[in-house]
Amino acid sequence: GMELATRVSALTPSSTLAITAKAKAMKAEGIDVIGLGAGEPDFNTPKEIIEAAYQSMLDGQTKYTPAGGMAPLKQAVIEKFQKDQGLVFKPNEIIITSGAKHALYTLFQVLLNEGDEVIIPAPYWVSYPEQVKLAEGKPVFVDGKEENEFKITPEQLKEAITPRTKAFILNSPSNPTGMIYTREELEKLGDVCLEHGILIISDEIYEKLVYGGSKHVSIAEISPELKAQTVIINGVSKSHSMTGWRIGYAAGNAEIIKEMTDLASHSTSNPTTPSQYGALAAYTGDQAPVEEMRQAFESRLNAVFDQLVQIDGVTCIKPQGAFYLFPNVKKAAKMTGYDTVDAFAAALLEEARVAVVPGSGFGAEDNIRLSYATSLENLQEALKRIANFIETHK
Ligand code: PLP
Repeated sequence: GMELATRVSALTPSSTLAITAKAKAMKAEGIDVIGLGAGEPDFNTPKEIIEAAYQSMLDGQTKYTPAGGMAPLKQAVIEKFQKDQGLVFKPNEIIITSGAKHALYTLFQVLLNEGDEVIIPAPYWVSYPEQVKLAEGKPVFVDGKEENEFKITPEQLKEAITPRTKAFILNSPSNPTGMIYTREELEKLGDVCLEHGILIISDEIYEKLVYGGSKHVSIAEISPELKAQTVIINGVSKSHSMTGWRIGYAAGNAEIIKEMTDLASHSTSNPTTPSQYGALAAYTGDQAPVEEMRQAFESRLNAVFDQLVQIDGVTCIKPQGAFYLFPNVKKAAKMTGYDTVDAFAAALLEEARVAVVPGSGFGAEDNIRLSYATSLENLQEALKRIANFIETHK
């Protein structure tokens, strides 16, 4: 065959998507599989948002907008930052992108030269290391210890810094762990970044999904110095159940945003215009649906958490945000005769007919990720199947 670029031969396919594809294929064969691999809310987009996008198209808004996003949407994002975090941004400090994922991709392309290092706390979202590598950068992993709620300490961050360190990725609430950094923890990590002149990339996509009275704090709201050294990544995918609309954004230093916008102007151009109108309605309309969806996730979490931790060989820290459980199943795997959690997860799919994502793809070999973006009925049945599988094989 044709020889393809080395940059793609180094790519690891997304483990999340692989499991979902396998589960779908089994379902197509008529096998009764319960999928807990989903990385997206299971609700439809609120109707008002869909209607606003539809109306905008009927009104003729079907053309290009500026590559970095249309002015009214930037303004809505600016007002959202002001209201939620008390952060003040100017339009030239915001870029609207085709999803938060593409905001991150574009940012790494703009930021990194060959060999530049990006510190990524593990467990991490699967796309961070791949995107860093696509920009010829080097991912440097720092282990968030399970006994420290999978969070890294300022000492660990300091130790990972070298003269080549360019940026540090913070993802709170976290996919896959559901953990949230407190203001005090952010202050200390922020001090280390300020001291060493390291850019903070703060992925706040799960901001609105917080539970048990937990609070989301953006590291950028701690001080003007930290704001100046942070690029915030966010979007409407998870908050407004708009994953398919592909609208995200980055907010930060005007020079970085300008370069990102120039790059977008030669790659995607603007994110689709109807989706921008949808996102505009999402931010300027009634926020009640956001809170309703949050409550639905929280009540599911509370309904199944005890059932999960009562399973033999399974331990789990209660998530504070996002919509994932990240239990440690190392013991359960051993008890049932599997050397690795990967093999255990494969057996769960084949025999128990429950699709979960093995933690190895997130940099955590002892854990699996269960998404609770599915019905309570499905969740309870899936946990029953996992418990039965362990009982009959131990
Ligand atoms: N960041 C994290 C941590 C995510 O989990 C996801 C989606 O799974 C994204 C970013 C990407 O979001 P979007 O759908 O807006 O590209």
